[in-house]
Amino acid sequence: LSVSARSLRGTEGTFEGAALAYKDVTELMRAMAIKDDFVAMVSHELRTPLTSIAGYVEMLQDRPDLPDGVAGQLQVVDRNAHRLLRLISDLLDSAQHAAGPVPLVRRPCDLAAVVRDAAEAAAPAARSAGLALELDLPDELPCVVDAFRVAQVVDNLVSNAVKYTPGGGTVRVHLDADPTHVRIAVTDTGVGIAPADRDRLFTRFFRSRDAEDRSIQGVGLGLSIARSIVEAHGGRIEVESQVGVGSTFRVRLPLAT
Ligand code: ADP
Repeated sequence: LSVSARSLRGTEGTFEGAALAYKDVTELMRAMAIKDDFVAMVSHELRTPLTSIAGYVEMLQDRPDLPDGVAGQLQVVDRNAHRLLRLISDLLDSAQHAAGPVPLVRRPCDLAAVVRDAAEAAAPAARSAGLALELDLPDELPCVVDAFRVAQVVDNLVSNAVKYTPGGGTVRVHLDADPTHVRIAVTDTGVGIAPADRDRLFTRFFRSRDAEDRSIQGVGLGLSIARSIVEAHGGRIEVESQVGVGSTFRVRLPLAT
């Protein structure tokens, strides 16, 4: 049942009663579960042939005897195949996260290395967008997390920072720890986020009008996936932002859970 409540006030503002509305949302929940199952099934079926395409393109790229111009064309196929693969895995993750808590494989790992690798993966995109990518990380930070999933969070935050920051700007990735938690912060000097949008950023398929207007690629899943992963670890994700100045996304994870 979905319940909503509202107080009823007289002309003077005096409290006169309350109205409660109960709505049966069983059918709606069932329809959403079917939609998520369908998305998961289709995504899974798309991933197999696409992985094969990406693999063969990589093999072709390794050939030393490519005719003129073909290397560039293969690069375009490779880039787009990987974009599609990423979209498919976002859709799959999102459908799975909607169905229940994210399953984690927690292992002892060096979080500094995990964050460094994930952030450095965005270096080529940052370079071609004319952005400085600064890493402010300790040499080592041992902790117990699902390294693959935490890398996905950092990857999403850094990719967003790169996407939403105009050329000449800076993206900074910071990592440190207090006695109980690790803290990751991704700061950019980008377009910023309007106060009205801040609460909705982490919901599935939300994109700001600004992102749509500027034709920045994306479907609005990255931050909802990041939040599911952080919360599955017992952590929190928050944003501070000023329009036209930039944004900082902060993640706090318990050191060992
Ligand atoms: P996507 O980037 O695919 O649209 P996300 O879930 O990652 O989806 O982000 C949701 C929305 O949050 C984006 O469409 C954008 O409006 C806003 N956003 C996310 N990160 C930033 C950022 N660093 N700077 C400005 N806006 C951002």
